Amino acid sequence: MARSSHDLFQEAQKVIPGGVNSPVRAFRGVGGDPVFVERAAGPYLWDVEGQRYIDYVGSWGPMVHGHAHPGILAAVAAQMANGLGFGAPTAIEVEMAETICRLMPSIEEVRMTSSGTEAVMTAVRLARGYTGRDKIVKFEGNYHGHSDSLLVKAGSGALTLGQPSSAGIPQDLAQHTLVLPYNDLDETAQMMARFGYDVAAIIVEPIAGNMGCVPPVPGFLAGLRALCDQYECVLIFDEVMTGFRVALGGAQALYGVRPDLTTLGKIIGGGLPVGAVGGVREIMESLAPNGPVYQAGTLSGNPVAMAAGLATLRLLERPGFHTELAAATEALCQGLAECAAALQVPLQINRVPGMFGWFFHDRPVRSFDDVMAADAQRYGRFFHGLLKRGVYLAPSAYEAGFVSAAHGAAEIAATLAAAREVLQAMKE
Ligand code: PLP
Repeated sequence: MARSSHDLFQEAQKVIPGGVNSPVRAFRGVGGDPVFVERAAGPYLWDVEGQRYIDYVGSWGPMVHGHAHPGILAAVAAQMANGLGFGAPTAIEVEMAETICRLMPSIEEVRMTSSGTEAVMTAVRLARGYTGRDKIVKFEGNYHGHSDSLLVKAGSGALTLGQPSSAGIPQDLAQHTLVLPYNDLDETAQMMARFGYDVAAIIVEPIAGNMGCVPPVPGFLAGLRALCDQYECVLIFDEVMTGFRVALGGAQALYGVRPDLTTLGKIIGGGLPVGAVGGVREIMESLAPNGPVYQAGTLSGNPVAMAAGLATLRLLERPGFHTELAAATEALCQGLAECAAALQVPLQINRVPGMFGWFFHDRPVRSFDDVMAADAQRYGRFFHGLLKRGVYLAPSAYEAGFVSAAHGAAEIAATLAAAREVLQAMKE
């Protein structure tokens, strides 16, 4: 007989720390056993017990066309027939770099990595090497992967564990990371007035997606751009999550602000492990082998990952794609807002095209403090109510939800019907 998720989780915990290969998957934020997935197609996941779920996690972002898209699978299969990787340059890497540079005009050169973490780690080293300065400014609740300099007051799994900063990071290193409240330009300007000429980079998630989903307030991103210009430091947009999702040109196109460096991941690998750092030529030329900033990767630019990513990007380029994705996100979020209002449930619903954040809170959620003031326990009950009804949300109040092009009217209607029942039951 097939093993249940519960049985698998028991076994997993004997051989994998916490039973998972990335902390949020352990369901600590919502309680209970994680769902062990067997397969997925379009907007659906099936667990090892055969239960089907409408999936709003989408592998945490890459699955913008839904799971197992036939065109992407075909591109991967064709590439695999030539071998899995060579550790030598390939034409498909050039095509990937040209595509990224064309779709995101702030990027003149791009280097591929194997994860978003590596991409951001490289961006920070590059900014430090280019400017000759040590300090990095980041924002509370923004998550930039798990490299030492950036795992300070971070979001995502770090928040789920109630521990925004990790053990094992030398204080000598952490002291170079200055942490500010997200969406607070005044505080950032004050901090820059004190330390600006020691700052190598300001790094920001242009739409925060690792403390739920918190869009930037008007003027925040443009203000960061102006501060970086004033203090001659590097503006890094971490678009690992938002890149190619919220608009074809990413959040930088949506809000019309041009960073010096951009980090990418998720979508550009179509579901396979990937990351990238790109930006203005002058800074990118500091990277080895041209410049003094070292960076490398055995599997970087892996041709199978490039094939999946390129196929994903080509599908995104269809005119109208992002308008439709935005409309699907809006239909889901607006429907939920109406349902919560009718039941008088205080639910704040943040959204941008393809991403959402739902908070049990009675005031708009714009900052990390607002996120922390939301009712995470209620989110846990909502999550489990939906899970029972075949809807899979992020197993944490501090993660964004993702809508894909495969989420059609039927899936959205089914999700809203389930949500209505759960919200009703939570009132009783
Ligand atoms: N940056 C952002 C904005 C992310 O959302 C993530 C992952 O969720 C990362 C960086 C790290 O990427 P990876 O998990 O591929 O290392």
